[in-house]
Amino acid sequence: MSPPAGPQLPEALAASDAVARLRGSGLRVTAGRVAVLRILTQAPHSDADSIIRGVRTHHGTVSTQAVYDVLRVLGQAGLVRRIQPAGGPARFELRVGDNHHHVVCRECGSTTDVDCAVGQAPCLDPSDDHGYRVDEAEVTYWGVCPACQEAVERRRSAGDRSPDLEGSLDPDGSPYPGAAR
Ligand SMILES: [Zn+2]
Ligand SMILES: [Zn+2]
Repeated sequence: MSPPAGPQLPEALAASDAVARLRGSGLRVTAGRVAVLRILTQAPHSDADSIIRGVRTHHGTVSTQAVYDVLRVLGQAGLVRRIQPAGGPARFELRVGDNHHHVVCRECGSTTDVDCAVGQAPCLDPSDDHGYRVDEAEVTYWGVCPACQEAVERRRSAGDRSPDLEGSLDPDGSPYPGAAR
């Protein structure tokens, strides 16, 4: 399989292309597998819950376990890559084999691809590999996405009159009211 080239997010994957990818990897073509491939084309870095919702929206009833099975099979076949930024659910994408990294927003969790700095794994060579045969360096850039930067600024400028101090004292309340998902 050739690595994806050109634009990193294809517009949409035709069903016939999904079928071709499955056949190319020697996998049986099922409606569920085609559906997951198409959803991941349009919504890369989806977590399992939103993939399940997408499959149910477009293809009716499907069990949660069936979707997890599809994700596992596609992952084993190398068609789908699974990433798991700390503190969040696993996310899935079709962009495989190019060792790209991710930048993740601390506020909203939005995840965007960043090309590998070096072009191939492991990208960063450890100063001491302790004899391990290292084949991957997991790099995640954390920050605040453009859409959230404004909200963070607003929160900061309102900071001195924090409603947390003047309003009800909710022991479970987040100190970051804007951070609720
Ligand atoms: Zn954000
Ligand atoms: Zn990615």
